[in-house]
Amino acid sequence: MKFDSARELAPAPESKSAATIKPQYELFINGKFEKPASKKYYHTINPATEERISSIAESNQADVDRAVKAARQAYEKTWKKMPGKERAKYIFRIARMVQERAREFSIVETLNGGKPIRESRDFDVPTAANHFFYYAGWADKLEYAFPNRQASPLGVAGQIIPWNFPLLMAAWKIAPALATGNTVVLKPAETTPLTALKLAEIIQEADLPPGVVNIITGAGATGAAIVNHPDVNKIAFTGSTDVGKIIQRAIAGTSKKATLELGGKAANIIFDDAPLDQAVEGVINGIFFNQGHVCCAGSRLYVQESVFDQVLRKLKDRMETLIVGDPMDKNTDIGAINSKAQLDTINKYLKIGLQEGADMYQSSCKLPGKGFFCRPTLFTNVAQSNRITQEEIFGPVLTIQTFRTDDEVIAKANNTPYGLSSGVWTDKGSKIFNLTTKLRSGVVWANTFNKFDPVSPFGGYKESGYGREGGLHGLYAYVNVK
Ligand code: NDP
Repeated sequence: MKFDSARELAPAPESKSAATIKPQYELFINGKFEKPASKKYYHTINPATEERISSIAESNQADVDRAVKAARQAYEKTWKKMPGKERAKYIFRIARMVQERAREFSIVETLNGGKPIRESRDFDVPTAANHFFYYAGWADKLEYAFPNRQASPLGVAGQIIPWNFPLLMAAWKIAPALATGNTVVLKPAETTPLTALKLAEIIQEADLPPGVVNIITGAGATGAAIVNHPDVNKIAFTGSTDVGKIIQRAIAGTSKKATLELGGKAANIIFDDAPLDQAVEGVINGIFFNQGHVCCAGSRLYVQESVFDQVLRKLKDRMETLIVGDPMDKNTDIGAINSKAQLDTINKYLKIGLQEGADMYQSSCKLPGKGFFCRPTLFTNVAQSNRITQEEIFGPVLTIQTFRTDDEVIAKANNTPYGLSSGVWTDKGSKIFNLTTKLRSGVVWANTFNKFDPVSPFGGYKESGYGREGGLHGLYAYVNVK
């Protein structure tokens, strides 16, 4: 069968007209959009076209100081004293406004980040709204969340987020912080600031007391200034393990609390009794969702030896049907790599894989002439010690190995510095229970992958970080409990 030309779909582009993007964005401090003390701006681009979209303010130390001061004042004067049911109304209002402007958020997320519009529309934006709804629900019920205990907020939370799920990560961070009575200084990633700045517009419109949420833009130095600020009580960080370690060193010996959501190298395991078509679908989703820019991506596939040939054939066939291209097209499955730097990193790993002696297979799709794109890729003939099996590539690249017994695959799956997530595909409940107790990862999906819900806690073991976000557990990260 020839899969690549089987489906010639007519273009179905989403219109840009439902979203307004200003030519320049300022810093959101104390309820107002203010010019940066640095007087500097940088350009943010569309990674699918390499065109400039807007100019973004670059915060310096003075801007971070202003934002932290605003957050401190708002904390002392209003937010920590406000009854939970009042805080809930604000968070609920933010959730409703994100829903009302969902289409605009989806378009901006796709234009700025490169992810397919179908994913922004059906996953990022609704899940972000859900997080605000969910934590709005907790704000007036903290006495039930911590029965017979008294929970008090920590103060000012410094929150630093990455570029793979910009709006969703902002929601993961801001919603539980506000629900528990903390105020916030949030920095989006340098390459994807736009939806966080749109969220700032909503926060202003929702009439949140000034200073409760401050959103400041800039690069790594701005993040470091937040981390090192003496008046910040808690750091919530999602990003690379390397920066996570820098943050851990920076706050050592201080009273700052931290949650670190870092990298991953998830094992996705297919047993020979699994429904193979569903498993292959799960593997495709596990590694190619959001171009593989997912900390919990199923990037290491383990297939039981007896079904390896069958699974490999099905995977290759399915890869040929994936449409790679314009992220604004509703037919697109795989959009643009987020930045030139990230594409260079992925290409570096493709070379390393070949040098290590692995066999590379890429789908035969055509890539657009402009923008940052990468073909869906898989490697076979890989060893457990290879760098492509050990290191986080953060792109659409899958390594495949085989196994014979449960014990063997558990040992192989756990042989990684990371421990964020894993997946198991089997018909047997007993096997699922055996593996979920022995796999050293914060999340284990069974017969599914990449499923998220605000009610479920998410977080890692080992070099994938510590602390949990989401669910009841996510509240603990923002309170002192007596
Ligand atoms: P980073 O960890 O550098 O970026 C995450 C956030 O931290 C960004 O907002 C970044 O700002 C900020 N930051 C950078 N340096 C510092 C610092 N010293 N102190 C405080 N904050 C800082 O990830 P990258 O964007 O550079 O990506 C590099 C690699 O990290 C990827 O290839 C991927 O492997 C991994 N990664 C993993 C993620 C995950 O969720 N597990 C998410 C993103 C990346 P800015 O972007 O403005 O520089």
